[in-house]
Amino acid sequence: MESAGPRAGKDMQQLSMLEEAVVGMKNGKVAYIGKTSKGIQADAIIDCQGKLVTPGLVDPHTHVVFGGSREHEMALKQQGVPYLDILKQGGGILSTVERTRAASEDHLFEKASFHLDRMLSYGVTTAEAKSGYGLDVETEMKQLKVAKRLQQTHAMDLVSTFLGAHAIPQEYKEDPQGFLDEMLGMLDLIKIKELAEFVDIFTETGVFTVEQSRDFLLKAKEKGFGLKIHADEIDPLGGTELAVDLGAISADHLVGASNEGIKRLATTGTIAVLLPGTTFYLGKDTFARARKMIDEGVTVALATDFNPGSCPTENIQLIMTFAALRLKMTPEEIWNAMTVNAAYAIGRGEQAGQLVVGRKADVVIWDAPNYFYLPYHYGVNHVNTVIKNGRIISKRRDIVDTVSLSSKS
Ligand SMILES: [Zn+2]
Repeated sequence: MESAGPRAGKDMQQLSMLEEAVVGMKNGKVAYIGKTSKGIQADAIIDCQGKLVTPGLVDPHTHVVFGGSREHEMALKQQGVPYLDILKQGGGILSTVERTRAASEDHLFEKASFHLDRMLSYGVTTAEAKSGYGLDVETEMKQLKVAKRLQQTHAMDLVSTFLGAHAIPQEYKEDPQGFLDEMLGMLDLIKIKELAEFVDIFTETGVFTVEQSRDFLLKAKEKGFGLKIHADEIDPLGGTELAVDLGAISADHLVGASNEGIKRLATTGTIAVLLPGTTFYLGKDTFARARKMIDEGVTVALATDFNPGSCPTENIQLIMTFAALRLKMTPEEIWNAMTVNAAYAIGRGEQAGQLVVGRKADVVIWDAPNYFYLPYHYGVNHVNTVIKNGRIISKRRDIVDTVSLSSKS
């Protein structure tokens, strides 16, 4: 199949699908895609009859490198304590910061490997990883180094983002600008050591203002980083408009994005990365306005936002169901949002997210009779086989008679 650019608006309804097709792989790359296997020599053949075959999924927004966990906060959330209040009490992200600072680099590496293994087992073959649980020079560097080690050693293709400006640490409570200056001071070293491609900031009430974010990101842009923004997640501050102004590769969350912000997103290349798993887990009723975005021509991607506080799940297939039920996205839009558009949202549009001859053979075989089966049958893992660079790295025993999957019962 021909490679395509990111799909915007109504084009997200387009899905290139072949029935009873053949995918050939050689030397880790896709070597053939077509309707017939006539004349093709192969050392091994996988019969995918009754199954769905897709490109490996791309998860373009995760916080996969962190210490500890936050299960004790669930009770607070059940009592209706707002996240910003938990944050004020030194809980929330600040407790993860404490655990991440205390953890050794090796421990963080092992822990993140575990989570990446699980993401792979759910069909993700390319993912983004943000720092942001150090909030000091030493720990942010430690997180970025872990991400780089994972890039070099783990089967997952990983894209690294520096999110030093994720929250204001206790030490800088009265001096957020001083903290941002300290984080800006890291950029040269991050660039030289190639520890991150993107710089991100949490633009939110009680965290960083639009003005602080603009200044911070402009300086990152001058140093040659791509930009991302945690924008308008809780309050509609104008982070969406800022992302457009600065030519960010993506604006993420966007639950509170204004009509003007959405209109402007549609006119630019900035991709809206929506994270409905987070809205669900925070117990909110109002989700990002994906329908309006797509109808107005925005390029939408979906991600887990995997993190220990507001979305502790590696299961991107569950996000498909949230996208269908709460964002009202169609199955076609969801698949585009988790493959081609997700890849473009992290600068990997030319490498991942599509099955194209000559590209890496990152392929998932699903125990599903068609592509709309996944958002429908929810909460479980439908992966049968994950192939990364042409090698099987995860394979489930065929315990289901796939013919019965498509029966009418
Ligand atoms: Zn995030």
